[in-house]
Amino acid sequence: NEGLGSWPARRARKTPHRTALIHDGTTLTYGGLYERTTRLAHALRARGVRRGDRIAYLGPNHPSYLETLFAAGTLGAVFVPLNTRLAGPEIAYQLEDSGAKVLVHGPESEGLVAGLPGTCEVRTYVEVGAGYDQLLAAASEEAIDEPVTADDTCVIMYTSGTTGRPKGAMLTHGNLTWNAVNVLVDQDLIADERALVSAPLFHTAGLNMLALPVLLKGGTCVLVEAFDPAATLDLIERHRITFMFGVPTMFEQVARRPGWADADLSSLRMLSCGGSPVPTPLIAAYQERGLTFLQGYGMTEASPGVLFLDAEHAVTKAGSAGVPHFFSDVRVVRPGLTPADLADVGETGEIVVRGPHVMPGYWGSPDETAAVFSDGWFRSGDAARIDEDGYVTVVDRIKDMIISGGENVYPAEIEDCLLAHPGIAECAVIGVPDEKWGEVPRAVVVAREGVELDPDEVLASLTGHLAKYKIPKSVVLADELPRTASGKLLKSRVRRRYGVDSQ
Ligand code: AMP
Ligand code: MG
Repeated sequence: NEGLGSWPARRARKTPHRTALIHDGTTLTYGGLYERTTRLAHALRARGVRRGDRIAYLGPNHPSYLETLFAAGTLGAVFVPLNTRLAGPEIAYQLEDSGAKVLVHGPESEGLVAGLPGTCEVRTYVEVGAGYDQLLAAASEEAIDEPVTADDTCVIMYTSGTTGRPKGAMLTHGNLTWNAVNVLVDQDLIADERALVSAPLFHTAGLNMLALPVLLKGGTCVLVEAFDPAATLDLIERHRITFMFGVPTMFEQVARRPGWADADLSSLRMLSCGGSPVPTPLIAAYQERGLTFLQGYGMTEASPGVLFLDAEHAVTKAGSAGVPHFFSDVRVVRPGLTPADLADVGETGEIVVRGPHVMPGYWGSPDETAAVFSDGWFRSGDAARIDEDGYVTVVDRIKDMIISGGENVYPAEIEDCLLAHPGIAECAVIGVPDEKWGEVPRAVVVAREGVELDPDEVLASLTGHLAKYKIPKSVVLADELPRTASGKLLKSRVRRRYGVDSQ
């Protein structure tokens, strides 16, 4: 078995007594993880699971999450993580689309599972808890040796997709292994790592930038079911956490806790942040506590690590997402052209990616797959600039670009400026039709609590900071902005809601 399914066995051979997982007061060694994974694989095989079959998981971070992933990998079956924040019909779509035979779920999803439509092909339901434990206890612990290869699909991960239906990115065992190798090469993970896994494992980052590299190295993952900023400070102290990964909002919430100033953070040696740009004030807040962010850029389809900014360059290259991971090739190319048409230094183009960590395609969607690859390069859809040292700064999504009077306007640049306004909590800039300019920017802003915003004053605050054609022509006040489960702004929904005048 060349795949992930063999990791617990290999770890158990090397470090059987080291702690792999801590969850809610229980501790699981690598030897224990191997035993439980093997037992689960036997139980699943006895229920008809064969190579290539899909096994879905719906639940918060829990040892059974990783046990199910590794058990699927042991059998050559495909693991399908489901986002617990999705509604019933969205879960049903992903179960139907993937054709999952088995659904392992937490007790909290009992109601949702009972309401799934008959069109789902799920034949076996396993509820985490007493039933799951009985299943394991009754199963054999004899080693399983399936001929799984690096090119076999390991995981189908539905991307949060800011437009259209979510698509299942097929990630092979090789993809996930190379991504973990990239993390180990570029980030100094150690065998004594104690990682706080509070980012959800159903997202590519929580699983692939955090849990899997730590387990490959033989460190310890402290699994937390729900991210809670107050509990986070406590957990860091209690478990002497060395490594944390999160999206910027998670780190922001932690730094805003009353206990922040007095918390003992001395055990932390590595903070890693990705998924969206890290705001400068956030970098500064952690810098004050002597902590530097490692920053990354990536996407589900790339397993996900693509660009990486190390601590050494966090300040000199602030704002950039770094250089490609060791086994990743990245180009910035002129939008709409082939990967051979490189953008000049400083010119905005599209990020394209190639490497052993890039997915072979979307599950059951050859057309969608063909649309995102060009000459073997994956087209990210993200706009970026590359500097003379090869550092890449992500500018925006290509499709969010506004063309006003022939000028390309990237909303993110305007949004950054708006966020410097003390009264603005969040904002989104979209393009709206304009007779003279074709399109003009419009700002949708959410005021900070207790602040009353004056649209004219908001616009005036931008004068001198942005070229005139980038200054929005209108400001709309909103109570909140639509976001995906992972906190990404849903630009398409903002456009639908605020892109046309209601009168
Ligand atoms: P997902 O498919 O959910 O993994 O999201 C991938 C997308 O998140 C990318 O295509 C980018 O648009 C965005 N993204 C990820 N990391 C960063 C980053 N460091 N800076 C800016 N955008 C990012
Ligand atoms: Mg996506």
